[in-house]
Amino acid sequence: MHGKPCENGAVAVVGKEVVAVGDFKKIKRDLSISNFDIVDLGDGIIVPGWVNAHTHLEFSDIEKPLGFPGIKFTDWIRKIVNQRLESNRLKSETNSISRKSLAIKRGLLETRQSGTQAIGEIATAPLISNDYAQDDCPIITRCFFEQLGRDPLNYPNQASELTSFLTQNQSNHPAFYRGASPHAPYSVSELLFNQIQTISLSAVTPVAMHIAETLEERELLEQGSGDFVELLKDFGIWNPLDFNGGFSIAGILQQLSTAAHALIVHGNYLSDLELDFIAAHPQNMSLAFCPRTHRFFEHAPYPLQKILDRNINLCLGTDSRASNPDLNLYKEAQEVASSFPELSPIEILKMATVNGSQALGLPSSIGTISENRRASLNFIKPSASSHAIHATDWIFDQTSQCIPVR
Ligand SMILES: [Zn+2]
Repeated sequence: MHGKPCENGAVAVVGKEVVAVGDFKKIKRDLSISNFDIVDLGDGIIVPGWVNAHTHLEFSDIEKPLGFPGIKFTDWIRKIVNQRLESNRLKSETNSISRKSLAIKRGLLETRQSGTQAIGEIATAPLISNDYAQDDCPIITRCFFEQLGRDPLNYPNQASELTSFLTQNQSNHPAFYRGASPHAPYSVSELLFNQIQTISLSAVTPVAMHIAETLEERELLEQGSGDFVELLKDFGIWNPLDFNGGFSIAGILQQLSTAAHALIVHGNYLSDLELDFIAAHPQNMSLAFCPRTHRFFEHAPYPLQKILDRNINLCLGTDSRASNPDLNLYKEAQEVASSFPELSPIEILKMATVNGSQALGLPSSIGTISENRRASLNFIKPSASSHAIHATDWIFDQTSQCIPVR
């Protein structure tokens, strides 16, 4: 990720760390190579471990997406709310660990096995940070504590929960970073949003928020009508005064622009002006695209070219297993490559690695192969027929394979 692909390259690893990266012959000359085991991976490309900028691991025990492709978004929300209630209620049959903790464990394992080294995780209360500290090779986690609701009676408790999460230091996890997430404009009142924003600002912590995921969300905010009205009525939280146009996507973006890092999740239906606004804050505002979730809901084509034309930092996420068949970020990158064939694979590689770490406010070396950094490496193997093509053109072909090396 530092420059051009290195032909006949090698990565020297001691313990868990990269000690040299570059030309194989040079590394062989510079290091006392007889002390190393040499693994020849054959023809292919070594790339950094992926950065999955958006996921909800608590839904990792869902076998397949809820509903069906093209499901109405509000119907899907009803399903996910039921799922969450059940998950929080049920205990595992064998011990006292909650089903949610087990789902997170399963999600972390699946994430690692598909070659991802870092995640942007959305987690709900009760949030147990040690759920993310599973073994000696943990996944680097930016954990956004998600809050939602419209009941002022809950706000003081929500404030203290978020403050205590953001200001805790201790964790058994060596790479656990904290953040906050007001869920979405349709599920968070303006007051709660302001409260989360104020607490995040004083803790200087990143914020992630689902914004402009559907046209219905815009309709609710701009006209106080549409599918979401029924949903909010059914949940007993409908108040027409909440949606008189005062709480707008432009206003939310304005506030988020003051955050240490603001990750706008989805942004499928942002206006040109809103995209311009995000582009005017390149240091701290980013967008996360979840390609296969996008396809599942059969949204209008993602405004990817508009985003790239504005040099907005765009990263990739799997979202959860409630809208995606798995947590494999390589498959998201393959989906981008097949939907946007004009994009260069190097551009997609950045979205799947360094752009994600920038969006999550993680150390800039994450998503690169760098000396003195933990070795997280994937090997991309071309199908035999890809060999003749330009060195990197085939990285995200449907027939190429991602093999996590370590
Ligand atoms: Zn999400």
